[in-house]
Amino acid sequence: MEVNNVYLLGGVSSNRLSAMPAQVEMDHFSISQLQTYLNCPASYYYSYVEKLDWEFQPADMVFGKICHQVIAEFHQTPMTKEEMVVEFERRWGKAVDETTNLRFRSLDDRQLATRGKQLAELYYDQYNSLVPEDVEMFFEIPLLDLATGEFGEQVVQGRIDLIADSTVYEIKTSSRSLNQSDADNSLQLTFYAWAYQYLYSKPAKELKIVNLVKTKEPKIQALSTRRNLSDFTKLYHLMTGTIRAIQQDVFYPNPLSRYGCEGCPFQNACGKEGLSERKEESDNRQT
Ligand code: SF4
Repeated sequence: MEVNNVYLLGGVSSNRLSAMPAQVEMDHFSISQLQTYLNCPASYYYSYVEKLDWEFQPADMVFGKICHQVIAEFHQTPMTKEEMVVEFERRWGKAVDETTNLRFRSLDDRQLATRGKQLAELYYDQYNSLVPEDVEMFFEIPLLDLATGEFGEQVVQGRIDLIADSTVYEIKTSSRSLNQSDADNSLQLTFYAWAYQYLYSKPAKELKIVNLVKTKEPKIQALSTRRNLSDFTKLYHLMTGTIRAIQQDVFYPNPLSRYGCEGCPFQNACGKEGLSERKEESDNRQT
């Protein structure tokens, strides 16, 4: 079967083929681009091709970013437990005051403030003695299958949350506990492990998800896992296949993905005109 975006977009006449851009340009690729496309190719289009502003900022996502920032600062600059809590409070208060269109779901501003402070204390208690080798380590490396030496065309960028004792850490915030299969199947951890092995020329000793769970009784959960070369080959083919689909302008709405449309920051754009109409207008502007 010929894979052609005319069919995938649905309802687009064949006359439009000549108006479609031959290739979507991309100067690098990242794990968030990969995950966005896999969750919903239409949301990739709105975010990375049309570069639409988000219609709202999910409060849970802002909360997660602030937890990351505070933890990174804690590992970079010595801090007491009290200072860590105050730093969370300061950053959260500023975000609530200054972020337009902040949208809360199950927890409001004050509940998130309380849970963030409790999680900062718990994190301090559990990870105060950890000696980091690197924090928020940025990398830019070629897309490479480590098993075969085959290269893709793109450069891949990313940032590993934390490395300590040759172990790669992914810090997450979540409203639920994770189970072992979440760690074993985490695409982000596979991506980090692949980048670590490329950069350090050896496998990471271990991969860990540290999950800051913001339930009524907040807790910190740590899950360990590993990856091997065959996992990296699968990741390589997933990335090269996704890049090819993006470059060939293959975008379609996928509200059946795990998260569905709930919480998507492009609901209005998607609901009002739909992807096909927006793409048609955008493509016409470019011709
Ligand atoms: S509203 Fe649903 S279909 Fe549209 S971009 Fe968002 S997740 Fe995809």
